[in-house]
Amino acid sequence: MDFLTNGELYQNVLKNVSEAGDLININENALERLKYPRRAITVSVPLRMDNDKIKTLTGYRVQHNQTLGPFKGGLRFHQDVNVSEVAALSALMTFKNSLLNLPLGGAKGGVCVNPNELSSAEMQRLTRSFTSEIGPFIGPDKDIPAPDVGTNSQTMAWMLDTYSAEFGFAQTGVVTGKPVEIGGSHGRDSATGLGVIFICEKALATKNKKMEDSTIAIQGFGKVGCHAAMEAFNLNAKVVAVSDISGGIYNPKGLNIPDVLKYTSENGVLKGYPKAEPVSNEELLALDVDILSPCALDNAIHSGNVSQVKASIIVEGANGPVTSEATHHLHENGVMVVPDILANGGGVVVSYFEWVQDIVWLFWSAEEVREKLKTIMYRSFDTVWEFAQESNKDMRVSAMAVSLRRLEKAMKLRGLAW
Ligand code: NAD
Repeated sequence: MDFLTNGELYQNVLKNVSEAGDLININENALERLKYPRRAITVSVPLRMDNDKIKTLTGYRVQHNQTLGPFKGGLRFHQDVNVSEVAALSALMTFKNSLLNLPLGGAKGGVCVNPNELSSAEMQRLTRSFTSEIGPFIGPDKDIPAPDVGTNSQTMAWMLDTYSAEFGFAQTGVVTGKPVEIGGSHGRDSATGLGVIFICEKALATKNKKMEDSTIAIQGFGKVGCHAAMEAFNLNAKVVAVSDISGGIYNPKGLNIPDVLKYTSENGVLKGYPKAEPVSNEELLALDVDILSPCALDNAIHSGNVSQVKASIIVEGANGPVTSEATHHLHENGVMVVPDILANGGGVVVSYFEWVQDIVWLFWSAEEVREKLKTIMYRSFDTVWEFAQESNKDMRVSAMAVSLRRLEKAMKLRGLAW
């Protein structure tokens, strides 16, 4: 299984799992089972390009663990996708769902492709082709994909349509993150970013601070980062910097996020936004702010740049943006790192709500979704914070310990690995 576990992100996850497992004295057979994915499916994905030539891409769906319920996790279209990274992200989903107490297991998918180089028609053909290839392995009770980097609600609509074709009627529960018109949930688009900000509120409260007295810098201005920025702005926090792949923008007086969003909707990227100074992605990570939220890709903060970080709280909007070495360094220097499996859990919580609403065909208002999400995010933070206080450990190892404890109990009850 080395080809699955040898990537940097998987190794980081394993370090975290071993450390947390030792802390709670986990059953060694349960730990052994949780270290590896249940299965990794590799598919060749034929894509007919607009010039009529067929290109063959590589796609993956890795299903890590289903002790608590059906496999669940996002689908990523990105040129750097590789099977070990997808496997690591699938494991993080298992631990996230357990930590949040959701009746779901963990999975992740990916296609190695640069979506920015594809036309909309090519994106649709790619999505349909990949869905056909993994069709036998997914389903409302089996494995439920959702959007991630490079995919969105439109991608999920195409997946739903392709998967449903052989049934003759819509299988709405097969994906989450769909448009509301076809069984999506209100609040799913903004859920991850909103959850990040609920966690920022709780993290600040441990230091007797509030959002309105705080400064925040956000790396990544996609589905997670832009909603986190908007929510922080609405709560009167000073969002001093945001960035995307084109670079960052900085205004020490605070950015007007609705105006920035208007600019990106007209220009595609942040570069060139006139009412702020340009900063690089690296400079953004080193800004003197209360909260730094990396919401782009993994390994953004590592041993090479961690000493530059000046924020007192880091809230991981992305999956795996702070390496384990960097986390240890930050913890020793009094910086709180709220880990991905807690901080960006808002997305899967509302995906779970969507799945439930699709099962009962009864849909909730945006306010209901928001309040229910807040309850779960606050409660999950409190559980991890309490564990961290009692054990005198950092939030990353504490979150993993809480998650492993639930999984171990469920595995024992089901007679798995005993
Ligand atoms: P997205 O594709 O919508 O946005 C990604 C953003 O990161 C874009 O602004 C992009 O320009 C920027 N970016 C890409 N490469 C960069 C680089 N090298 N430097 C700086 N910025 C860069 O993706 P997303 O859905 O917002 O996901 C972001 C992260 O959050 C990923 O790690 C993803 O796994 C995680 N996540 C997403 C969700 C969700 O609901 N979408 C849920 C949980 C976790």
